[in-house]
Amino acid sequence: MTSGLDVRGITHRYGKKTALNDIGFSLDKGTFCALLGPNGAGKSTLFSILTRLFVPDAGEVMIAGHSLAREPGKALARIGVVFQQPTLDLDLTVRRNLKYFAALHGLAGKDADRRIETSLEQVNMAERAGEKVRALNGGHRRRMEIARALLHDPVVLLLDEPTVGLDAETRNSITGHVHNLASEQGLTVLWATHLVDEVRANDQLVVLHEGRIQADGSAAEIAGDTPLQARFLEMTGGGE
Ligand code: ADP
Repeated sequence: MTSGLDVRGITHRYGKKTALNDIGFSLDKGTFCALLGPNGAGKSTLFSILTRLFVPDAGEVMIAGHSLAREPGKALARIGVVFQQPTLDLDLTVRRNLKYFAALHGLAGKDADRRIETSLEQVNMAERAGEKVRALNGGHRRRMEIARALLHDPVVLLLDEPTVGLDAETRNSITGHVHNLASEQGLTVLWATHLVDEVRANDQLVVLHEGRIQADGSAAEIAGDTPLQARFLEMTGGGE
C-alpha cells in the first residue's frame, strides 16, 4: 500500500540533548495514528521536523512518496497542519479567514470558493461560514482550523495536541471528526497527544518517550489485557 507518511531514522539534538533518537514509523494512506507521549517526549520536535521548521541531524521523511529533503515543495504541498496555538483573525468571518489562507496557497476566485465550501463541509461547519470567528466557541474555532488545514486538499494531516484547552465533550467531538476524516475520506492523520482517552482501539499507536519509540502497532494490541492508560504509564515510567 502507498505510504501516506514515512518517518525513517530521525535523530535530532539540541546541543548535547538528544530530543529524538532514531525514530521511524510508517502510516498507510487513510490511517489515523496517535503519537502518544508525555511532556518532553519529543512530539513537538518531530512536528517541527515534519513541517520543515527544523532539519534533522539524521534520517529522512517521505510525505505521499516525496522526500521532504529532496522535494520539499511537493512534500509540503501534501501536508495540512493544525498547530497547538490558534491563529485565526477573530474579527473576520470564517469565510474571510479561509479566503486569506486559500490565497496563500495560490487559490483564488471560484476555485477558492469551492475549496472553502468543501473543507467546511468536511468538518460540518458549512452553515457557519458567514459568522465572525469571535462568535464561535472553542470547539468550532478548532474545527475551522482543521478546515483551513484541509483547504489545499492534503494527503497527510498533522495535528499537534489539537484539543488543548477544550472541555471533555468538545474534545470527544473533535477527536471523532478527525477519525472520520481518516476512515471515510482516506486522509492520513498524525495526531499528537498526551491524553490516552483520545486513542481508539483500532488506531495505529506510536508511543514516544524520551525521544525513543516504545511501541508502534494497533492500540488494542499494544494495550493487550491491560487498560491502555496503565500500559502507557508502564512504558513511560509513571507519566509526566
Ligand atoms: P513534547 O512536545 O513531547 O513535549 P518536545 O519536542 O517539546 O517534547 O521536547 C523534547 C525534549 O527536547 C525535551 O527534553 C525538551 O526539554 C527538549 N527541548 C525542546 N526544545 C528545546 C530547545 N529549543 N532547546 C533545548 N532543548 C529543547
